[in-house]
Amino acid sequence: MNFHIMTLFPEMVMNGLSTSITGRAMERGLITVEAVNIRDYAENKHNTVDDYPYGGGAGMVMQAPPVWRCYQAVASRLEKRPRVIYMTPQGKVFSQKIAQELAQEEELVFLCGHYEGIDERALEMICTDHLSIGDYVLTGGELPAMVMIDCISRLVPGVLNNETSADVESFHDNLLEYPQYTRPEEFMGKKVPEVLLSGHHKNIEEWRRKQSIRRTLERRPDLLADASLTDKEKKYLEELLAISEPLC
Ligand code: SAM
Repeated sequence: MNFHIMTLFPEMVMNGLSTSITGRAMERGLITVEAVNIRDYAENKHNTVDDYPYGGGAGMVMQAPPVWRCYQAVASRLEKRPRVIYMTPQGKVFSQKIAQELAQEEELVFLCGHYEGIDERALEMICTDHLSIGDYVLTGGELPAMVMIDCISRLVPGVLNNETSADVESFHDNLLEYPQYTRPEEFMGKKVPEVLLSGHHKNIEEWRRKQSIRRTLERRPDLLADASLTDKEKKYLEELLAISEPLC
């Protein structure tokens, strides 16, 4: 899977993504990441890429021509027109489901804005998707691009050591993950749940599913509407709801 990031701060994204699991995935050739500096496509002697907004108002706007030229340079190296995702607080909020969909692509281009954003004409000409990482405003699209690339990379076969681990994590099946424990068996008087030491895989699996359901109900009840539960699990959820419902 190949990620191309159009940015004014290539070192920022490359430094972040070259570390830890994504860094190892790059070394092993499972993913490639290239950061292309939009400033290299400025055509003035001071290499400026921003200007005042027409109509007035605060801040500066990234100009269309360098963004367009940068995109053309990236696209000319690819076999077909890629998906180009603009990082913007105005976009659909990124989720595990969107990550799964994007992980099917061979090439993905991320466009990072700065200042007050990018001239609308460049966005209209090159962007296929608008994505946000949440309802808040950051200074630039670099951190959102890194968040999305990290998340999508984990879904690329071979990137995680344990192939199955992405399948049992939070948001898979619309449930949050169960609590995890490791050694020591007892920490400051708190013991690891007995069932996890039993070696009885069926009981452990059942305990974990119940913990996932309980935790999702407590922390993200909105997810449960789309969770796929067995009849037995639905009954367990009903029991939990009956306990948690306030007495009138
Ligand atoms: N003026 C813009 C607006 O009100 O929609 C916000 C511009 S923001 C200061 C600068 C850049 O940061 C944006 O162009 C975008 O690339 C990025 N950005 C900021 N917040 C973001 C978010 N929540 N998700 C994705 N990108 C974001």
